[in-house]
Amino acid sequence: MCRLPQGLSTWALVLEPASLILSPMAIRIYDSLTREKSPLKPLTPGEVKLYVCGPTVYDDCHIGHLMGPVLFDTVARWLAARGYKVNFVNNITDIDDKIINRAIESGEAWDSIAERYTKQYQGFLAELGVETISSHPRCSDYVPQMITFIEDLIAQDKAYVADDGVYFDIQKHPGYGKLTRRKVEDMQAGSRVQAQSNLRHPGDFALWKNAKPQEPSWDSPFGAGRPGWHIECSVMSSELLGGAFDLHGGGDDLKFPHHENEIAQSEAHGDAFASTWMHNGMVQYGGRKVAKSDPRMQDAAFRQQFQARWLLDTYGAPALRFFLLRSAYRRPVDFEPSTLEAARTGLIRMAKGLGSLAEEPGKVTLEEIQEMNLDATNAAHRKGFIAAMDDDFSSGEALAELFSLAQEARTLEPEAKQITLTLVRDLGRLLGLFRPGDLELLLAAGSGSADELLEQVAGALLEVRALAREQKAFGTADALRDALLQAGITVEDGTPGTSRANCHGAQTNALDQILEAALAARLAAKAAKDFVTADGLREGLAAVGISIQDGAEGSNWTRSGA
Ligand SMILES: [Zn+2]
Repeated sequence: MCRLPQGLSTWALVLEPASLILSPMAIRIYDSLTREKSPLKPLTPGEVKLYVCGPTVYDDCHIGHLMGPVLFDTVARWLAARGYKVNFVNNITDIDDKIINRAIESGEAWDSIAERYTKQYQGFLAELGVETISSHPRCSDYVPQMITFIEDLIAQDKAYVADDGVYFDIQKHPGYGKLTRRKVEDMQAGSRVQAQSNLRHPGDFALWKNAKPQEPSWDSPFGAGRPGWHIECSVMSSELLGGAFDLHGGGDDLKFPHHENEIAQSEAHGDAFASTWMHNGMVQYGGRKVAKSDPRMQDAAFRQQFQARWLLDTYGAPALRFFLLRSAYRRPVDFEPSTLEAARTGLIRMAKGLGSLAEEPGKVTLEEIQEMNLDATNAAHRKGFIAAMDDDFSSGEALAELFSLAQEARTLEPEAKQITLTLVRDLGRLLGLFRPGDLELLLAAGSGSADELLEQVAGALLEVRALAREQKAFGTADALRDALLQAGITVEDGTPGTSRANCHGAQTNALDQILEAALAARLAAKAAKDFVTADGLREGLAAVGISIQDGAEGSNWTRSGA
């Protein structure tokens, strides 16, 4: 083995046919702060630390929540393919005005709302093949660390206590606004900064908000209250990645004020913070940016098109991932149905072209792909793919190489065709595409069958619940209702027999969850010799195509005819 000299950590040995040469492994990344591309130079050789701002968990996921994770998962996959160990942190904002307001409106506890939507978010990420996230820290788990951080800022006179909380003093921090090139003296009360008479500057932002009635609060030296939004990212990144880390990602819309404020707090605290800033483009429709305030969002049908559940059911998770990767991560993505449908059709054609290769499990490393003995055409496309991904993770250009390869494969003899298609599959898998089962998911999408079945099963369980109540088996009745609620299905109770299940907010694995609970409820009913309810469950589920098999290991369910 040969040893690499010190300082050559960004170089690697790459095998080229018949020769062993040193080749620069230069991944170049566009930095939103410098507005230039520069080579990745990890702070710790061989390891990349990445932090990406995550969702506020108070409502059903929409595509805006999922774009960042899919795009940065692809970044992380490529870094891993290039031999880096990746530590990828994606936070969960579970303390926020929106969650608190939702809790006050609905009467449900804030942490149970947050828990439900956190699970929903993680379920969608799993469906979309997001596999690289190392941890999902929750804001509520880091409040003591945030309090200490704020105390440090006050001690350094970078923050001050006002009558409704603690604020960061932006005038005390030279360079505030450097990411978006704003000047403090130009920042007057405007759309993004609100004038408050108790602040030293209208741009000063809350680090800590004093407790109000009905709100969750934590004790602190500055009084009971809760952290502001920005502080969580400065604290959780430094806790999990250290005060200095490599990459910080997030949507374009987070640059100001969120990321400016993160930078200011962390630098004022004495942390070097992120070396490089990466921002992904935002959701568009018909060439125009879509925000919550968009007048088009008044229309329920328009709004639905951005709901994660609807998108995944209509086009299939693999199509959505493929669609997002077809463009460059920094560009806005247009969600017009025709573009999504085109992506789905294109991916189906490629997956069908791969045939049985697509269903073989396993992943091949980039090193192994580079060692494949290929003809000149294949080798050129392989080189193009790698160069595109090394150049600021240009997945759209990389996929164009796969398209060309798949096209050429159609004209080849069986043996050569097999080699080319294997190359397509193996390169695609580095980016989370062409997983076994993807074609089935793509073909099933749009039929709505999964949703219909869930609705039917939920409806059947409600009928059994009514039956259980008649038998005075209240434990079973409650267990069924709780199972539906926990799976994100709301129950609208009416007169007996008219209860309805609303599956709109159902979690991705809701069917498995409620059937598992139904099997447990049936066992409990049998143990209590309540055979009416137990048999009612079996018959009710059989009527909607679910059959229960009892075995020595317990009961199981299958879809009849499936
Ligand atoms: Zn953040």
